[in-house]
Amino acid sequence: MTNNNIQSPVEVEFDLDADGWHQGFARVPHSVHRSAYGFIPVPIISIKNGTGPVALLMGGNHGDEYEGQVALNNLARRLTPKDIRGQLIIMPMANYPAAVSGLRTSPIDQGNLNRTFPGNPSGTPTEVIAHFIESELLSRSDFLLDIHSGGSSLYYHPTAMLAKSQDSAQQQRRIELLNAVGLPKSLIYHSDLRAGYSSSAAARQGAIGMTLEIGGAGRITPQFLGQLEDCLSRYLQHIGICIDSEYVSKVATKLFEMPSSAYYVYARSSGLFEPKVSIDQEVDTGQLAGWIHHPEDVNWEPEKIQFRQQGVVIAVRVPAKVEPGDCLIETASEI
Ligand SMILES: [Zn+2]
Repeated sequence: MTNNNIQSPVEVEFDLDADGWHQGFARVPHSVHRSAYGFIPVPIISIKNGTGPVALLMGGNHGDEYEGQVALNNLARRLTPKDIRGQLIIMPMANYPAAVSGLRTSPIDQGNLNRTFPGNPSGTPTEVIAHFIESELLSRSDFLLDIHSGGSSLYYHPTAMLAKSQDSAQQQRRIELLNAVGLPKSLIYHSDLRAGYSSSAAARQGAIGMTLEIGGAGRITPQFLGQLEDCLSRYLQHIGICIDSEYVSKVATKLFEMPSSAYYVYARSSGLFEPKVSIDQEVDTGQLAGWIHHPEDVNWEPEKIQFRQQGVVIAVRVPAKVEPGDCLIETASEI
């Protein structure tokens, strides 16, 4: 359990309250055999110009998701303090040990940062990073944008994700934000304030947390990187941080929801997955989703995978090789 009474041991190499453009490391203490008083260097940038909204922009929460890491570096290079009002805090490689290794989870402690919030200031490196982000950064932020992709195992077309608010005026503002961001698909979900996700951490700290899922498959495409960079410009203008940036024309977003786990399709045997659908395809309950082949034995019939829900395909697994319990396809229902 978290001990929220203990202060974060993470030191930022510059003053987060200072105006101007600053880059340095958030130093996560790490004493190991080859480095007795060393630290894990998590890159952090602050661009601040007086008072105004504060947003934390994160990439590399999962280290094998690359689009956000590149887009956030491009953004930090492009912006100067006079371009903004308020403050942008940018972490392009939030779980640095995972990001530098190109892995979803940290090779040091196997930690999945996006399941670890609120973290623990006296825990493992991933727990210390989660605690630092929630207690030191989100506590001073009005907005969080956490940029994900399908990583090594999944592939998404651009989708923005935001928790549903019970308050109707709040919910209307959230839909306006999704429209302003202007990705083709938006997913509204029911948030759990106790969960370990970054969006749950943002909600606990009174910030509006949005998650993006763009691309994946362990690669970067110019098309999705361009869409992400346009989306970042629209986001920063809509939340009032970038006041002078040119408004990029947006596409109308379609709203989706995933009300139950039946929208996820899983493997039940080991083998080679052959999908029979593609992203954005509409599917019916009982429709063939794909086959899992078992080439080691010609008498072993391929496993027939079927959809348990009507909906639209939003993500498909990339590697053919699967084990029981692997997620093969995600679907969602249009609202
Ligand atoms: Zn992710």
